[in-house]
Amino acid sequence: MNTPEDSFDFTPEMTEIPEIFHNSLEKKPFERCLSCNKYLLEDGTPYIIEKAIRNYKEHQVKDVIFEYALCMECTENMRQVMSKESLQRMEHYFMSQIDPLERQLRLLNNETLNIDPWIDQCLIKGTPREELDEYQICCQCDGKNMVFTIMPYLVGGQAIEEMAELLSAKSRGEIDDFMDNNFGLPPELKKELGDFKYVLF
Ligand SMILES: [Zn+2]
Repeated sequence: MNTPEDSFDFTPEMTEIPEIFHNSLEKKPFERCLSCNKYLLEDGTPYIIEKAIRNYKEHQVKDVIFEYALCMECTENMRQVMSKESLQRMEHYFMSQIDPLERQLRLLNNETLNIDPWIDQCLIKGTPREELDEYQICCQCDGKNMVFTIMPYLVGGQAIEEMAELLSAKSRGEIDDFMDNNFGLPPELKKELGDFKYVLF
C-alpha cells in the first residue's frame, strides 16, 4: 500500500473516524468517494474527508457549507489539473508557515489520540475555531479509521483566501472545470463556495 505515511519512519497512528468528520446528513462515516463512487470503508483504502463550515458566532450555530470524501486516486487527479507553479506556490506557502513533523510530534498523544488540539485553531494563522466565521477541516482516513499525519487540520477563511490568491488563473479555471465535471454542484452552492473550492489538502 502506498500512502504518504510510508515516507515517515513509524507506524501511523489511527483512531476511529471522529463524529465531526461523519456525513452530517446520515450521521455516520462517509461510505463512498464523491467523484468515482468507490467504497471507502474497506481496510487499506486511503481517502480524504473535507468539510467547509460556516460559524454563526452570535447565534452559536454552525452550518456545513459542503462536505465530501474523495479517494486518493481522485485526489491525485484533482491535484494534476493544477499547474505545477500553482502547486509549488501553495506548498511553499504552507511549508513557510508550519513544520508538519514538529506539529505531529507535538499534538500526537498516543494514549488519548484526541483530535481536539488538531482542529481547535487555524493551522496557518492560529485563530481559535470559535472566532472564525468560516473554516475548512480536513482529515485523512484509511477504511474505517482516521490517520494522524499533517491532518487532521483546520484552515480559517483568511488563510484560504491567501492560498487561493497563489493560484494562477489557469489553475483556477481548471479546478472550476474539474468541480463542474465531478461534483455537479448547483450554481447557488458554487457561489457560496467562493475561494473554498480552490484549497484542497
Ligand atoms: Zn474516487
